[in-house]
This record gives sequence, structure tokens and C-alpha cells, in this order.
Amino acid sequence: MEKNLSELVKISRTVGKNSLLTQGGGGNTSVKSDDGKFMYIKASGTALKDMSSKKGWRRLRLEKVLEIMKDKSTAKLDISAREIEVVRRLRLACDDNVKGQVRPSVESHLHAMLDKFVIHLHPAAVLSYGCAKNGRQELEKLFKDEKFPPLWVGYADPGFMLAMKITKLVGGYQRKFKVKPAILFLEKHGLLISAKSASAALRSIQRVIKKCDSKLVNFKSAKVKRVNQKDINRAKIAIRKATGQKALVHYFFDSDIAAFLRRGDVRELLSFGALTPDELLYANGPAMRVGKNELEKIEEKLCRQVEKGIKGAVAFLVEDTGLFIVGTKQMAPAVLEIVRNSFFIRINAVRLGGISVLSKKQQEFVYNWEADAFRKKIAEG
Ligand SMILES: [Zn+2]
Repeated sequence: MEKNLSELVKISRTVGKNSLLTQGGGGNTSVKSDDGKFMYIKASGTALKDMSSKKGWRRLRLEKVLEIMKDKSTAKLDISAREIEVVRRLRLACDDNVKGQVRPSVESHLHAMLDKFVIHLHPAAVLSYGCAKNGRQELEKLFKDEKFPPLWVGYADPGFMLAMKITKLVGGYQRKFKVKPAILFLEKHGLLISAKSASAALRSIQRVIKKCDSKLVNFKSAKVKRVNQKDINRAKIAIRKATGQKALVHYFFDSDIAAFLRRGDVRELLSFGALTPDELLYANGPAMRVGKNELEKIEEKLCRQVEKGIKGAVAFLVEDTGLFIVGTKQMAPAVLEIVRNSFFIRINAVRLGGISVLSKKQQEFVYNWEADAFRKKIAEG
């Protein structure tokens, strides 16, 4: 196997195992060949931790990926046509022996203009700043001693618009500092790290997360009380009835969930809408807080969400009982990760000047985008 590819597999497995970094399997990695002609990038449909020498990646012609960004006619297409066109061209840029319909990451173009190794993740520690009103200023303070400052990328619709924005910002950065940025913070989205070697990229991830974590608070683990099985069943029945008789309802309770439930400000923290495209796509926004005596009102509350143009919640935090997630067996663990990280991000974003959420327009784009390029909500990033 080519050395670059084996290093890509190694870094993908390392970061992919850590759910605090990826959230529901999100994130992607890439490496460029020594001659700069090719880029190996994570394929969609395989989680980072499952990448191997045989599967989980595609090899692209770098020049063809960069051409997508330069083509003015793509930029002029309307949203849904544009994202389909981008995916079509990414497939055309593939140059390998991979069979079947395996698509390169829809975020391939984000990687193309950066250094040799690129790791893109959605870490809760970074998103605590990325979803906070003063997040940018706080990050600037934290990283003020860096020789080359991190690049802040204000929110852009995922896919093509984000890639365009990054292309422009990276160009400006290179003119100013004569190097490509090594750390990019993506508002309400995540982190991009680029480095000349695999080990430098991994070190950089660790360093950035450690620095971000230094100003954040974690859950003070709460004791998990035994919950009466009758209460669990009662909540499950109520949620199933409110969300559709056939729905599968999964139950989770641990010290993090117990700690969050016990907070006096839970209702307020969850009253803010979706923080990131991930939270919107996987969980339709934040979990719904339900009082023990409100079980019969869930249906009414869901209707009210729909009236407001919001998709109904799929996670329910029931007082004294725990967390309930509606969905398939495959989806529930990913939703759980998103919900758990969202608790952490919300608590910390409040401390960093307040929670900043996706606007209605930004949410609409994500839903449209999902319908075309992200239909299966599979591990993608
Ligand atoms: Zn992403």
C-alpha cells in the first residue's frame, strides 16, 4: 500500500475512535500524494474508525477538484442543482479502482486547497466556541501566542458555499502570512487541521482540543438513581404514541444525562434551536425537556414545533427518568452522541457569552441539502 494511504488509514482510525471529536461519525480526513497530483480522501458511508487499506476512501485527481471551485457556472446554479453538480464532478474526479457507488466525501473540496494532511472534525470542545456569541474573540485570546494565528471561518452553508468561502479566506491568509493556515475554526460546524505530516496533524488536533478544553467546564458526574421500570415504560408509551405508533423508542440513562437533568437551567438551555447542521440532521434540533406530569402533552408540543416550521424533536429528556430517543437501531447511537455533545456545548457556550444558533434560512438550506446530497444521514461530516 502506498505510504501516504497507510498513514491516512492510521490517522482516520485514531481520531475516528473518539466520539468527542467526531459526533455521530462525522468528520473526514485526506492526504495528498507526494507529486501533488492526487488526494486520498475519506469516502462517504464508512465511518472514520472503519477505514482500511481496502475501503473507506477514494483517490481523486486534485486538479479536477480545484477546478470545481474555479468554475463560475457552478456558483450560478440554484442550490439543489448546484450540490448535485458538485457531487457529480467529485465522482468524475475519482481516479482509482474502487467499485460500486462509493462517493468521495461531499467535503472533499474543503481539503483540496490545504496542506498535505488534512483532518476535519466536529469536536464538542471546538463547537463550544463555534456556537457561542463571543466564541471567536475567546479563541483569539486562547491562541494569541501562535506564530501563525488560526483562521476563523464565519458560518457558510455546508458544501459548495463553505468551500468557496474557505478558498477565499485561505487565499487572503496566504497573501498575508506566506503560508497556508494550519488551524481553521468553522463557526457552528467544526475544525480543520492541516499539516505536512500525519504525526504533526495528530499532535495539532490534541493541542487544539487541550487548549480549547482549558476554558471549558465538564459535567460534574451525578449519581444515577435507580429508575422505576414502570416510569420508563410509561414514558416510552407516551413518546411512541406522540411520535407514531410504529416508532422505536430507545432509553438511555447515565451520569452525564443525570447531571444534565438535575440542572436548574435545562429548560432554558434546550430552548435554543439547532446549533449545527449535525444537530439538525440527526436530531431535528435539541432534545425536548418533558416534566414527569407532561407526558400526555408531548404530542401537543411536537405539533407546536411543526407549526413554527421546526421539525419535531426525536430526543426527549424526561424528568427523573432519563433520555429517550426515537429512531432506528442504527441511528440511535449517533443521535445519542449528538445530544450528549449538545448538552456540553450549550453549557459552555452560555459561559462564553451566550448560545448562537442556526438561523431559519441556514436551517432551510441544511434540509434542502440533506434531501439531495445527504439523504441517508450516513457517516459523512
Ligand atoms: Zn464538516
